[in-house]
Amino acid sequence: MAKLQVHQFPCLSDNYGYLIHDSESNVTAAIDTPEIEPLNAALKSQGWTLTHIFNTHHHFDHSGGNLALKAQWHCQIIGSKTDAERIPGIDLLMADGDSFDFGGHRVQVFDVSGHTLGHIAYYLPDDAALFSGDALFALGCGRLFEGTPAQMWHSLQKLLALPDNTLVYCAHEYTQANARFALSVEPQNDQLQQRAREIDALRAAGQPTVPSLLGIEKATNPFLRPMSPNLQDTIHMTDAALVDVFAKTRQLKDNF
Ligand code: ZN
Ligand code: FE
Repeated sequence: MAKLQVHQFPCLSDNYGYLIHDSESNVTAAIDTPEIEPLNAALKSQGWTLTHIFNTHHHFDHSGGNLALKAQWHCQIIGSKTDAERIPGIDLLMADGDSFDFGGHRVQVFDVSGHTLGHIAYYLPDDAALFSGDALFALGCGRLFEGTPAQMWHSLQKLLALPDNTLVYCAHEYTQANARFALSVEPQNDQLQQRAREIDALRAAGQPTVPSLLGIEKATNPFLRPMSPNLQDTIHMTDAALVDVFAKTRQLKDNF
């Protein structure tokens, strides 16, 4: 097994596409299929052959390229067992807690439903990499289109349990807007203020803010911080149950 290579490239207006590759076993997976042309261009630039697609959820900006890419590359498509009917071309069905081998790399699957039902995340523990789709964003979390706040909070707690050195590869560049909201609910978080300045500088230079370290998310992402006294005070939820603080934070973001 070689060191996992991750190639990140922009798709559509604000999605990120990812290719992951192991050079020894010569396998390459696309994390979601937001857009076919940039994905094929990325494969060409790296000289890689697409062998797998790992889908996080059914939305079109994540699975819209599945069928065309499968026809072109004859790759295997992996996705959620509980959402198999909405994942085009799915071959391998995964449930929470399942794991599988990708060219010698162990891949663990977490059900992180909330944004959609049957949203999964892919965690490669030996590579300290998490592909979180639209469940966990840099400084944010996915909008609750299908699930409940309690379900999303349950999902995010699974990710909170992962090591701080985990790199979080999320599916959208939403970070700058997320930072503005985060500062509005936890204004006295020094590390958040510092991070917001770094994000502004990166975006001004046209640079991505993704991936981010999970340890930094734990310290600055309001959706991972319902236990923060400053956040609780700011949104008038002092000493409330964490799930209720999370729900209120999500609701405030929806109306921000
Ligand atoms: Zn989505
Ligand atoms: Fe999306």
